[in-house]
Amino acid sequence: MVRLAENKHSSENKLTEKLTLPSKVYLPLIQHLGKICNPEVKAGDMVSLGQRIASIEANVYVPIHASVSGKVVAIQDWPHPVLGRTKAIVIESDGQDNHAVFSLNDQQEIDKLTAGEIRKIVLDAGIVGMGGASFPTHIKLNPPGPVDTLIINGAECEPYLTSDARLMVEKTAEIFAGIELISRCLGVEKIYLGIEENKPEAIKAFSRFGDIQVKVLKSEYPQGGEKQLIQNILGKEIPRGKLPFNIGVVVQNVATAYAIYEAVYKHKPLIERIVTVTGSCVENPRNLLVPIGTPVKNLIEFCGPLKEEPAKIIIGGPMMGIAQYTDEVPIIKSSGGLLLMNKKEARILNEDPCIRCAACIRGCPVGLMPCQINLSSEKSLWSQAKEYGASDCIECGICNYVCPSKRRLLQTIKRAKLEVVK
Ligand code: SF4
Ligand code: SF4
Repeated sequence: MVRLAENKHSSENKLTEKLTLPSKVYLPLIQHLGKICNPEVKAGDMVSLGQRIASIEANVYVPIHASVSGKVVAIQDWPHPVLGRTKAIVIESDGQDNHAVFSLNDQQEIDKLTAGEIRKIVLDAGIVGMGGASFPTHIKLNPPGPVDTLIINGAECEPYLTSDARLMVEKTAEIFAGIELISRCLGVEKIYLGIEENKPEAIKAFSRFGDIQVKVLKSEYPQGGEKQLIQNILGKEIPRGKLPFNIGVVVQNVATAYAIYEAVYKHKPLIERIVTVTGSCVENPRNLLVPIGTPVKNLIEFCGPLKEEPAKIIIGGPMMGIAQYTDEVPIIKSSGGLLLMNKKEARILNEDPCIRCAACIRGCPVGLMPCQINLSSEKSLWSQAKEYGASDCIECGICNYVCPSKRRLLQTIKRAKLEVVK
């Protein structure tokens, strides 16, 4: 674990603002781990807010919904923040941001919902892990083995990002209602909420809920990784190659719990999320409530004028986020931050050869040898990369951060991970 400059102060105390309605949204047909969806609309169709517009019959998927009402104008190739380019449904907004379409559910009906019914609502609402993993949530709510513990992840350990912190302060009761639904699905009674010590308001807000044990964690990176959370809250280690459910634990993010609340209590699918817009180019960093599919240039315009032209645009945080090549790229379900860095902050540096200092090995929170996986990956030696445990990498980026030769270790390790699971 490492201590990083947090850089959260400029946005952490500001109320979330609603982004001006975009004129067009670009909704990629894949925003989750699993199968790509098929469009259920065509160019020329009118769609209402929250209408399902893409889905597929598959074991691992979630559907996609219209995040604005209006007209489908195209289904075309478009930039994707994680995958480079994919097909996206383009909707031209009719300017009617009509949230009244979502009717409130009755509390008595909610109380009667079975675990299976809650999971079905979560699937139909297109909910994925919103901490960045994008794994379909309904599957995580149905683990293949018995679990007895739920950990809610409110750590938000990435520097700069404050979207989860704002949500925890502004929507405490709603997140609590979402957590209650998750625990009902899993049948667990032990519930922990992990929050870093740098979020005193959120800690105070949740401490009044007796059913949840709030665990105050050190502000260290990567405190919010599933393995680190479990180790620091429960003192248990996940064996190499295993997942949390193998030791009876499920971890869910606070924003995911909120999305579950919205789906069950308001019949509202996952069509918007909070995004922190920040970085050295932004005069006034803030948190925005953004329709999914909004191009990042709309967020930049809303927060402008910028202090200077960004040298690097990152979706996510500085450690785990992904650099983008265009401001046309849309916000998707897992995009918690938009970072606009100037040249100095972006530290665009040339790679030098490895000097075998072992700093990356000492820094890796899951005990890997990043330098060796990097070498294997560069030589396309995938079975060797597998032996070095590439698939256990949690993509925290610490190895890149500590490497004095500025080697792009994470990028090659990510490539090895993809090859290893083929
Ligand atoms: S190898 Fe993976 S888990 Fe280890 S430091 Fe690098 S990015 Fe983090
Ligand atoms: S930190 Fe960089 S230079 Fe040092 S061993 Fe790892 S890859 Fe090599």
